[in-house]
Amino acid sequence: MSPDLSLRPTRPAWAEIDLDTIAHNVRTIAAAVAPAAVMPVLKANAYGHGAAPVAQAALEAGASRLAVVCVDEGEQLRRAGIRAPILVLSYTPLADAERAVELDLTLTITSRRMATALSGFASAKGRTSRVHLKVDTGLNRFGSGPAELRELANAIRGLPGLEVEGLFTHFIDGALADLTTEQTERWLSAGAELDWIPVRHAANSGGIITVPLAHGDVVRPGIVLYGCFPDHSLKHRLDVRPALSLKALIGRVHEVEPGETVGYSATWRAERPSRVGLVMIGYADGYPRALSDKAAMLVRGERAPVIGRVSMDVTAVDLTDIPGAEVEDEVVVVGRQGELEITADELADLAGTINHEVFTGLPARLPRLYLRGGRPVAMSTLNEFRQLEPVLP
Ligand SMILES: *Cc1c(COP(=O)(O)O)cnc(C)c1O
Repeated sequence: MSPDLSLRPTRPAWAEIDLDTIAHNVRTIAAAVAPAAVMPVLKANAYGHGAAPVAQAALEAGASRLAVVCVDEGEQLRRAGIRAPILVLSYTPLADAERAVELDLTLTITSRRMATALSGFASAKGRTSRVHLKVDTGLNRFGSGPAELRELANAIRGLPGLEVEGLFTHFIDGALADLTTEQTERWLSAGAELDWIPVRHAANSGGIITVPLAHGDVVRPGIVLYGCFPDHSLKHRLDVRPALSLKALIGRVHEVEPGETVGYSATWRAERPSRVGLVMIGYADGYPRALSDKAAMLVRGERAPVIGRVSMDVTAVDLTDIPGAEVEDEVVVVGRQGELEITADELADLAGTINHEVFTGLPARLPRLYLRGGRPVAMSTLNEFRQLEPVLP
């Protein structure tokens, strides 16, 4: 694909996010969980994919609510013109309560103090602050135990300007169906007496796939929305596809003699006359340093091994067996080229981490091109957001 001239990446390393694929993934998830609704989880800049354009594509494809983890992330979506309900999943400090009311964000609350504060701010502004309660069913992170939950819910029920809209829990590991089923049963029984709370949700990506009973009224897909799976054992259980490709240009090609080393700390030494390509992406662009001497990139439809240390801004590959490769060639770091594919999972496994961390490591300085119908329609860079066609209102 040759990018539209007016939306050319502003750096030689960039991400491409296919918004049609995001839409396809939302529809696939919706079909799997119907009649439950879909609330995409857009924390951490939509797992590095770009929060506002992904939100827009997901809402157009039928999502009805959105979730983030902090008020700043909710504000980013509101500033982009998004009006759908936005749930803040994590702990919010009291100091952010007023801003949350102004932004019409739905907070997860864990204390009467927070409920009282929200009630006060909302009443003063003539608004309603919607809140969700979280029950801890075993993760032992946030949320109230079942008894504490009942007490909190009943204490805040009826506070002016406050509406207790939702009750949810979070799973330890959705790939473990037995454990997830147990947690689901605890969530259902904790909620049984609180039948006046209308919206129930529990399922993250793993729960969506393994435990239909966990679908409740709304599901919270994160990693499957982006086309990946939370565990190798769950691969291909849903027809979702990766939406993000990571690309970079070759900035230099040069020859080294046998015995010469390449890169910091001299971890790679040429055993034959070699051609080295410098790919303009480094660990500050989210390409993990742990991939040094381990991963490969796609160059001219072939796998070029990463050689030496990944540096902050550049990574060397061995082009000896890809003799046509030259400066300005487009290298696929994650994604498809010809017959071959490098997945975020492959990089995560080599780096000893998970696909979530690979995606959320993609920084703001990496330009993002947003595609519709295979063409760039918008681009975000460190310095601006540009669009050819409105992907945002
Ligand atoms: C991140 C998160 C999700 C989404 O998790 P995935 O495993 O990526 O689907 C759902 N719910 C909560 C509370 C989360 O923090």
